[in-house]
Amino acid sequence: MSKINYSRREFVKQNSLAGLGTLVTMGVAPTLFANRATDTSIPAILGGQKLRTKGWPGWPMWNPATDEEQVITVLRSGVWSRAGRVTEFEKKWAEVIGTKRCLAVVNGTNALIAALVQLGIGGGDEVIVPPYTFIASVVAILQTGAMPIFVDTDPETFQIDHDKIEAKITPRTRAIMPVHILGLPADMTKIMAIARKHNLLVVEDACQAWLAEIDHKKVGTFGNAGCFSFQNSKNMPIGEGGAIVSDDEAFMDRCYSYHNYGNPYGAMVGKVDSGTVIAGTKLRMTEYQAAIGLAQMKRLEVQTTKRNDNAAYLKSQIKQIPGILPYKFNQKVTRAAFHLFPFRYKKEEFKGLTRAEFLKALQAEGIPCSGGYTALNKMPYLENVLKTKNYKLMYPSEMLDYTKYMEGNQCPENDQLCQEAVWFDQNMLLAEKPDMDDISTAIERIHKNADKIRNLK
Ligand SMILES: *Cc1c(COP(=O)(O)O)cnc(C)c1O
Repeated sequence: MSKINYSRREFVKQNSLAGLGTLVTMGVAPTLFANRATDTSIPAILGGQKLRTKGWPGWPMWNPATDEEQVITVLRSGVWSRAGRVTEFEKKWAEVIGTKRCLAVVNGTNALIAALVQLGIGGGDEVIVPPYTFIASVVAILQTGAMPIFVDTDPETFQIDHDKIEAKITPRTRAIMPVHILGLPADMTKIMAIARKHNLLVVEDACQAWLAEIDHKKVGTFGNAGCFSFQNSKNMPIGEGGAIVSDDEAFMDRCYSYHNYGNPYGAMVGKVDSGTVIAGTKLRMTEYQAAIGLAQMKRLEVQTTKRNDNAAYLKSQIKQIPGILPYKFNQKVTRAAFHLFPFRYKKEEFKGLTRAEFLKALQAEGIPCSGGYTALNKMPYLENVLKTKNYKLMYPSEMLDYTKYMEGNQCPENDQLCQEAVWFDQNMLLAEKPDMDDISTAIERIHKNADKIRNLK
């Protein structure tokens, strides 16, 4: 860690503070109970001193000494379009995840679209998806012409409630798209059993779940295909980028072909004399992206361990505060990615202080936080898509009745979760234990003073 990590400004600051460029934990941090017992400070939002004035690890991180040279090498080679570096990136990502094949593409959204399309999902099909996800999961389903069917969220795990999936299966259901949202694994054991029973395809949206595991097996390897994102904010940032992984060679050959205009690839070569074989598109990653990706891959393992350690510690501390309900893992989760650290905020335990007021008070202490997603099953795009020419051609009119569609896709648990969730960003989990203590102390301080903060005008 002496060479990498913080944004430039942070990098300089940490270097001068700790000499070795790392936030070394000196001695033992006081326990939360000690902090809680002695902390009589006035919250920053009430005019007290801000608990934390120092920043958090910046994002993205890179190592100027080694990473920049990789990009320059690509530049000077003049080979910028897909070539050897992309192939190397795919080989390594497949190894890291534990699949036979990987295809690098332009982003996670298009990884999902390509996977769905090449599994034969399209107009007239229903795809089951959770509403607690990033819009791109649903965008991908709609781009294929399929109909998203929402299954409610388990508020304890923040993941799709697998026990509610079967009730949503109809003769039109072709696939399930579990999303390992926030980097916490959905229960793939249960979901795969349902898929086998009903003969459904499974495309895992692992766009926030690099290296997350269930029983030591990486997520993205359970279904027919797994899709990843390497967008700038993600734990493995390239700027833009995505990948599809699978053990199904024929499927991966089709994905390759699709991402390269439909030109033949692998097993598809030889089956045709010449020329383009399928209706493809163009999704190729550049050599620059692959160069950065290869550099990022090297630090992902260490960073993932650190996020897991700090998340477990932070969870153990804040769960002691009444009204703070941190995430729970599904069964057999051996590792998470922690793209975000989530908990539920119960205002009843904070004298009725609203979540918005709580977030503001926490931010005032120097703890960045957000309220997370709004309900995806209730946004205007759905009404608009049902009115499009293509959807009118692909579905009977009763399926395009928006009121009916809305009724069938209610997710009350998710609605409540969207009101109660609080998130911390993944890069905060790359700080040290005393920094985690700052978070819990700040929450405790707000809890103690909730009454006064609520009366603030
Ligand atoms: C980021 C993300 C995507 C899309 O990835 P892009 O690379 O931004 O296109 C899809 N699903 C989820 C859950 C994501 O977080």
